[in-house]
Amino acid sequence: MRVLVVEDEPDVAEALAWGLAAEGYVVDVAGNGVDGLWKAAESPHDVIVLDVMLPGMDGYQVCRTLRERGIWTPILMLTALDEDLDHAEGLDSGADDYLPKPFSYPVLLAHLRSLTRRALGARPAVLTAAGLALDPAARTVTRHGRPLELTTREVSVLEYLLRAAGRVVSKTELLEHCWDVHFDGDPAAVEVLVHRLRRKIEAPDAGGESIVETVRGQGYVIREQP
Ligand code: CA
Repeated sequence: MRVLVVEDEPDVAEALAWGLAAEGYVVDVAGNGVDGLWKAAESPHDVIVLDVMLPGMDGYQVCRTLRERGIWTPILMLTALDEDLDHAEGLDSGADDYLPKPFSYPVLLAHLRSLTRRALGARPAVLTAAGLALDPAARTVTRHGRPLELTTREVSVLEYLLRAAGRVVSKTELLEHCWDVHFDGDPAAVEVLVHRLRRKIEAPDAGGESIVETVRGQGYVIREQP
């Protein structure tokens, strides 16, 4: 999951970026509304965390402009004032959800999970396929009830494929959503990671059956269960 954080207070932005990265999100940060608009338009994000109080262009204007431009990325607004008026204005401008500051970290994460779940269609909280279960909240993966040891990025890639179950996902799309912008974008890195991921989730002692299918020239797919 790739998240864009638009927040002008460097300490808050840095803490959010660090915390979200630790949860397996790929994080881009913008320090003002104009930069936020540019970053949101330039690369696809799964969710945007947008502060309302920004210098120059405020969060409401950023949100309205994104929607006018046809960018429908789910937006979680961070409001400083816990007043009904602000919430109404936030939702009217096209935001999907709001969270009053100060917020607790677990609550922020729960809001983000809820937004990305809704955006990608009705999916259960725990993602499953062929005896595999991935819990996005706990970042744990089990196969037939046995815990598997996966790296943060392996969990991210697997989560992305599970959420897209039934649809072929290209290596470029995986790079965009599971690697950060500083990465040079070599699709070979995706192949290496998927190979390693498969060895772990499809190992004989983990159940054996194949889960991630390669579609030649197109990418990867996890087939939906009948
Ligand atoms: Ca602010």
